[in-house]
Amino acid sequence: MRVLIVGGAGYIGSHVCKALAQRGDEPVVFDNLSRGHRHAVRWGPLFEGDIRQARDLDAVFTQYRPAAVMHFAANIEVGEGQREPLAFWDNNVAGVVSLLGAMKRAACEVLVFSSTCATYGTPQSLPLTEDEPQTPINVYGRTKLAVEQLLADIASAEAFRYAALRYFNASGASPDGEIGEEHDPETHLIPNALKAAAGRGGPMKLFGVDYDTSDGTCERDFIHVMDLANAHLAALDRLQDGAHSFVCNVGTGTGYSVKAVLDAVEAVTGLPVPYEIHDRRPGDPPRLYADVERSRDLLGFRPERSDLHSIVQDAWNFYKRIW
Ligand code: UDP
Repeated sequence: MRVLIVGGAGYIGSHVCKALAQRGDEPVVFDNLSRGHRHAVRWGPLFEGDIRQARDLDAVFTQYRPAAVMHFAANIEVGEGQREPLAFWDNNVAGVVSLLGAMKRAACEVLVFSSTCATYGTPQSLPLTEDEPQTPINVYGRTKLAVEQLLADIASAEAFRYAALRYFNASGASPDGEIGEEHDPETHLIPNALKAAAGRGGPMKLFGVDYDTSDGTCERDFIHVMDLANAHLAALDRLQDGAHSFVCNVGTGTGYSVKAVLDAVEAVTGLPVPYEIHDRRPGDPPRLYADVERSRDLLGFRPERSDLHSIVQDAWNFYKRIW
């Protein structure tokens, strides 16, 4: 099956392309390369274009006639969203409106959409089920929630069907070290901890040690990017089999503290992680971890590589190759 991977040159999109190609599907990447990397497009053609440009989208649909679309092209950095809300709403929401228009013109009716646990905000109860109220506390989460609402409206009026996957903390790298996480600037915990361990760029900033958690640092649910990629394939298959639209968490169900991650980094690298303690980072809920029942029932999803050691080991192997 041919699938249009919008944002396929980025971190998660490129791993999904790899997983699709490995099982014989045909990913076509659409990306403006503003954040993605040409070298991460290895499993099919790259069409350079912008989702806000109807002409670019119509051209890629006409040329490749994909059976379905997966959407990864979004601004994701929480702090940047607070500083540049208009850019976030433009790319993350107006961009999807534009994409949906092109899908409609091309009679392409199936979408797998990258949503996020940031749509829940600070949870009232844990583990987080999909029925938790969605009250995002930052611009990033609000743009993703707006798209979820948009998708629901369209699916109730038209033949269009979608899966919105609410990811927890995507992490790790392709186990063979071929592709990995390359954000610039990098804001995520595991790459920053590995960077600090490797002596690149000084000590890591640890944001907050006074949370009401096991050791005072935030707790997160880390999901290996290859497991996450496989969840996308399962969601696509369900939709292709005729399922109704659905939303679903993708996580492991277990939270690990920031300090536990630093311990894992030290164990994997054999190096100390120098860090300095900073104030809390605005917009960080203390604890986030997924209720995984729906992902099991709907997608048959069981993470296979999301233990902290494998995640950190795979990320480290990737960075050792490119640094
Ligand atoms: N974090 C940190 N230092 C960093 C990056 C992240 O202390 O350089 C903390 C952050 O405050 C949060 C956790 O690590 O508590 C996970 O942050 P990340 O940005 O990786 O993912 P998020 O949960 O925000 O999506």
